[in-house]
Amino acid sequence: MKKSPDTNKLEEILKSPAFSATGFMGADTRNLAEIIDADMAEVARLGYTPHQIAERMQQITDKAKSALGNWIKIDDTHSAMITEVKGRIPCPWPHAGNFAKRVTTLKDMQTGRQIHFSDLNIHLVAEHNFFEGRGSPFRIDPKEIVEMLF
Ligand SMILES: [Zn+2]
Repeated sequence: MKKSPDTNKLEEILKSPAFSATGFMGADTRNLAEIIDADMAEVARLGYTPHQIAERMQQITDKAKSALGNWIKIDDTHSAMITEVKGRIPCPWPHAGNFAKRVTTLKDMQTGRQIHFSDLNIHLVAEHNFFEGRGSPFRIDPKEIVEMLF
């Protein structure tokens, strides 16, 4: 990703505690372009696209929504559950649109391993190729999520 004048402003928003209690950058000292470039390289190395990952995340969230807060079986080894709180959160990028504060927990029933992602995470991956900075509570590790999703 090329660094544009808007990117500096966006980085400030992403780091701001006013926007999200912990910010999206976490403790990451890399800039936004470096984070995105590194994650895109990793996603490509794994043989997927951000769109494929986001699409699978969305399918799981949609299925879990129907279970109304209970665990639901996704496939032979995975279950998912939705946790939702009141309110909505806007995308930090400069465009219209905000997202329900809904978190999907995906669990591997054999290993007990769990990952969490929000509706905003799905959008950030699909539209902005952004998996968040290291140390952010909603950082998604591309390798970890690919292993869980596919
Ligand atoms: Zn957006």
